[in-house]
Amino acid sequence: MKPPRFAYERATSVQAALQRLASHGPDIKLLAGGQSLMPMLNFRLLRPLLLLDINHLAELQQLQLLDDGTLRLGALLRHQQVLKAPQVQQHWPVMAAALAQIGHLAIRNRGTLGGSLSHADPAAEWPLLALLLQARLHLASAEGSRCIEAAEFITGAMSTALQPQELLTAVDFPALASGHGWGFAEHARRSGDFAIAAAGVLLWAEAGRITQVRIAVGGGVEGACRVPGAEAALLGCPLGMRPEDAVLQRVLDALRASVQPNVDLHASAALRAQIMAAMLRQALLAAWARLPGTGGTDQRSGSHA
Ligand SMILES: Cc1cc2nc3c(=O)[nH]c(=O)nc-3n(C[C@H](O)[C@H](O)[C@H](O)COP(=O)(O)OP(=O)(O)OC[C@H]3O[C@@H](n4cnc5c(N)ncnc54)[C@H](O)[C@@H]3O)c2cc1C
Repeated sequence: MKPPRFAYERATSVQAALQRLASHGPDIKLLAGGQSLMPMLNFRLLRPLLLLDINHLAELQQLQLLDDGTLRLGALLRHQQVLKAPQVQQHWPVMAAALAQIGHLAIRNRGTLGGSLSHADPAAEWPLLALLLQARLHLASAEGSRCIEAAEFITGAMSTALQPQELLTAVDFPALASGHGWGFAEHARRSGDFAIAAAGVLLWAEAGRITQVRIAVGGGVEGACRVPGAEAALLGCPLGMRPEDAVLQRVLDALRASVQPNVDLHASAALRAQIMAAMLRQALLAAWARLPGTGGTDQRSGSHA
């Protein structure tokens, strides 16, 4: 199908874009990579009067490492630009591993961080990463700006706290305390497809026990989410034991108790629950193996389903 008729305008600055959004917010769709927006227009799921193209706004394309170690990513950075950034490869290997799973190279070269988070597909990698890495999102409007936690921003499947007059300008990823173990695993029917299920895990340990845990899952759920019950099950676990012996079953039980997978064309709820548990198991074992003191693999090497 062809898209409905719309006007096209290229934004010349962030301020100009915000003024346009202030006067015509609900009638406007911002055009970033167009990888989700254009299919939605072609299917006539959206009928904006104006597409406001933000692709030429250099202010939204900065990648900065701030003095406190925070990684600040402009909303218009492409998935592939972030994935290849040396700072990301070195300090946020879980991010690099997850971004490598987005679609194909052509999609990663066009699609943007801001577009993915604003679209909030529950099977997309960025929402899961934003929750796992406790990202903070910068939202601007003609009236001012605000900064909110990823957990507040993502309100469900394809649903966010973004207002029609707002533009997502940048996302902050706080520095990760050193010595963490990380794992990311996802399963899709074919390489490049959206995930049927995905899981990310971060672990920290002190004096031979797990002291901090973050677990996020996505793909075929009502929205990417953290799994507090599974995180709690891991706290205090001794590193001397194999996770399979120590705690794995309790973690997977907590996942099943708190996350209800969706049914769709790709998987029944029961199958998806099984795949999600398998992904969490795989990500957890990888994170455990990368913790200093477990005699595991190199901190930076990846693990994918
Ligand atoms: C074949 C195919 C396979 C794909 N596979 C995957 C996959 O495996 N994993 C995955 O995560 N994604 C996948 N995608 C989606 C892709 O990652 C998109 O890039 C992403 O979902 C949207 O980003 P975009 O920059 O293209 O945004 P657009 O399509 O331009 O915009 C999406 C929405 O966000 C809004 N928006 C964009 N930027 C901003 C901003 N800065 N502030 C406020 N609102 C904004 C737009 O108005 C629109 O409503 C796939 C896409 C295709 C076509």
